[in-house]
Amino acid sequence: MLTVVLEKPGHFAAIDAPEPAPSGDALVRVHRIGVCGTDLHAFAGKQPFFTYPRVLGHELGVEVIDPGDSPGGLKAGDRCAVEPYLNCGRCIACRRGKSNCCTSLQVLGVHTDGGMRPLLRVPARKLHRSAKLDYEQLALIETLGIGAHAVERAQLVEGEFVLVIGAGPIGLSVIQFALARGAKLAVMDVSDTRLEFCRNLGVPHTLKPGAAAVEELQQLGDGDLPTCVIDATGNAASMAGCFNLPAHGGRIVFVGLFQGEVTFNDPNFHRRELTLLASRNALPGTLREVIQLVESGQIDTRPWITHRFKLADTPAVFPREIAGNPAVLKAMIEVPQ
Ligand SMILES: [Zn+2]
Ligand SMILES: [Zn+2]
Repeated sequence: MLTVVLEKPGHFAAIDAPEPAPSGDALVRVHRIGVCGTDLHAFAGKQPFFTYPRVLGHELGVEVIDPGDSPGGLKAGDRCAVEPYLNCGRCIACRRGKSNCCTSLQVLGVHTDGGMRPLLRVPARKLHRSAKLDYEQLALIETLGIGAHAVERAQLVEGEFVLVIGAGPIGLSVIQFALARGAKLAVMDVSDTRLEFCRNLGVPHTLKPGAAAVEELQQLGDGDLPTCVIDATGNAASMAGCFNLPAHGGRIVFVGLFQGEVTFNDPNFHRRELTLLASRNALPGTLREVIQLVESGQIDTRPWITHRFKLADTPAVFPREIAGNPAVLKAMIEVPQ
């Protein structure tokens, strides 16, 4: 079967590979694959601890062909989103219900071969079914789960003044759930285009980073700074700058990941008695809630998709139109059946 492999940084190849060997796992047909920041980093050779060759693809809209040995209610023909976080089930994080940060977590399409191929085996418990959503919507559930989990970590309350920094795909997914929680939301980004996109999504306040930001935020908050700041940039300077933006007693959530050290001034941190939280991946219950929110129409992801192409065209299209293109918000790969 056609399989697209990232052979080395900057080079995809479309090869003919065998179908996945039988196992107790469910066999699924991949219909749609969302392209993620992780995929772009792997292509650019900037994903640490990443090994090549690798079949990418962890944002998947799939159809169940055979539910496998432990179907858990799944049957052939079901449409599902995939939870790509393969956890051990035994470690301290897993035992405490935090499968998203398992000590030996393997992310499908990052640490193990993923979905850039028509057939794939996945544990049935990692499949989240929806009778209503189409494959494209299902392929966006994982990205949305990242934002939903960050908002959960933040424990946002209705009416709370919240600042989200960074309006890329992760930031946008945070924004969706912060709005759904009824937060009083401001979004900061360097790009005018992205800020305009946010306003079209219903974000009431947008601003640019810089020296005037604190004052601008205070004005928006009737004299008070936001009680929660969520950074979705993965940029060290932005993350370090975060410590100056929350109100006293507030909290910071780092959902964007920076591959290095982030430093902060302790007296500033202490004076404000800040709470700093990391947010990684998402939990299965959160993904099921996200599916319900998309099903009910509270969250509409269709405007996110800026590019579409076919799996077989990936080796040609990806380097030319996707990698390094700031106009790409979310690219969607179609797997013709
Ligand atoms: Zn992703
Ligand atoms: Zn574990």
